[in-house]
Amino acid sequence: MSEEIETGITTGGREGAFRDILSKDHARRGKPPLHFADLSEEERIERAGQLGLPKFRVKQLANHYFAHLDTDAESFTDFPAAKRGEAAEAFFPTLIEPMLVQKADGGTTIKTLWRLFDDSRIESVLMRYPNRATLCISSQVGCGMGCPFCATGKLGLTRNMSAGEILEQVRVAAAAMRDGEVAGGPGRLSNVVFMGMGEPMGNYRAVLSAIRQISAMPPEGFGISARNITVSTVGVVPGIRKLTAEGIPVRLAVSLHAPNDQLRDELVPMNRRFNITQLLDAAHDYYLASKRRVSIEYALMRGINDQPVHARQLANRLNHYGDDWVHVNPIPLNPIEGSKWTASKPEDEQEFLDILHRAGITATLRDTRGSDIDGACGQLAAKNRG
Ligand code: SF4
Repeated sequence: MSEEIETGITTGGREGAFRDILSKDHARRGKPPLHFADLSEEERIERAGQLGLPKFRVKQLANHYFAHLDTDAESFTDFPAAKRGEAAEAFFPTLIEPMLVQKADGGTTIKTLWRLFDDSRIESVLMRYPNRATLCISSQVGCGMGCPFCATGKLGLTRNMSAGEILEQVRVAAAAMRDGEVAGGPGRLSNVVFMGMGEPMGNYRAVLSAIRQISAMPPEGFGISARNITVSTVGVVPGIRKLTAEGIPVRLAVSLHAPNDQLRDELVPMNRRFNITQLLDAAHDYYLASKRRVSIEYALMRGINDQPVHARQLANRLNHYGDDWVHVNPIPLNPIEGSKWTASKPEDEQEFLDILHRAGITATLRDTRGSDIDGACGQLAAKNRG
């Protein structure tokens, strides 16, 4: 069987560094079924009306979904029995189904490969720590940014995910935490990071709708504070500017990966559209507006961007904007099989970090949870294409 048919990856996406970015229509494969989370309040009421359900039933459904994390008709005990099935079908179609679940770190890291309605695959990773539980979610099927060291980039962009598909990853993880399905007993999902497959700014509307519904208090949302939500971007400057204007206090993470334009043009093709100065200007403005430190993600690649000269360049660029506005997360690259991009030597990582610290920059080597289960972005989906 051909890989293309199985994954539905469009050829255009394979090649385009950023050709699909900000494009309005990715609906080449049809749209996912509409879900409660995709509908406005008015649309929910209208849809309920079509089923003969009065307005107050919509509130009950919101309560089931956001407060009880439940989509199972049988649980709608406050609903007339004859309407439960119909309501669940109309509002809560199954959008994501687990295909493969991998556990690591003593069961505190759980990576799930999900199948979507059109047989697309995405993934999410739940990481439990002593004081928090963080879910890393996907916002697009594949990614059109074309970073050459990245497994997801190799897949290209298939389509944007709907708000419902994005939110379902959160609901299922929140329920798993609540129900004690993650090692460590019952707990609470406290953090969400948009660092799975895809470029969140490339699917801005659905991502923003998901952020609003993740952070609103039940029964309007899951009640996870916006301050505990991180949106990462590879440098889609108009997206950062738009997010700044929203005034939602989410954390912004910028995947920089290189301290000069020459190198970044190669590692992150989006840089040819918006260069480092434009990107850091926008990131710094976000910091000024939100008062939230920006995270700078930097995948350390052996001999490519991990040398002392790179660390010094990075420190200079960041310090140009003043003190204490960023937190740098160097991440040891989790290499894709057969790729020329490999992880840095531990001593180089340490030196990189030391140089940043000496320059007064807050930096911590990012935890590489789940690296024994293909933890780098997109690797699991890239391996399970058939
Ligand atoms: S590194 Fe991020 S932006 Fe680049 S191709 Fe991979 S998923 Fe896309």
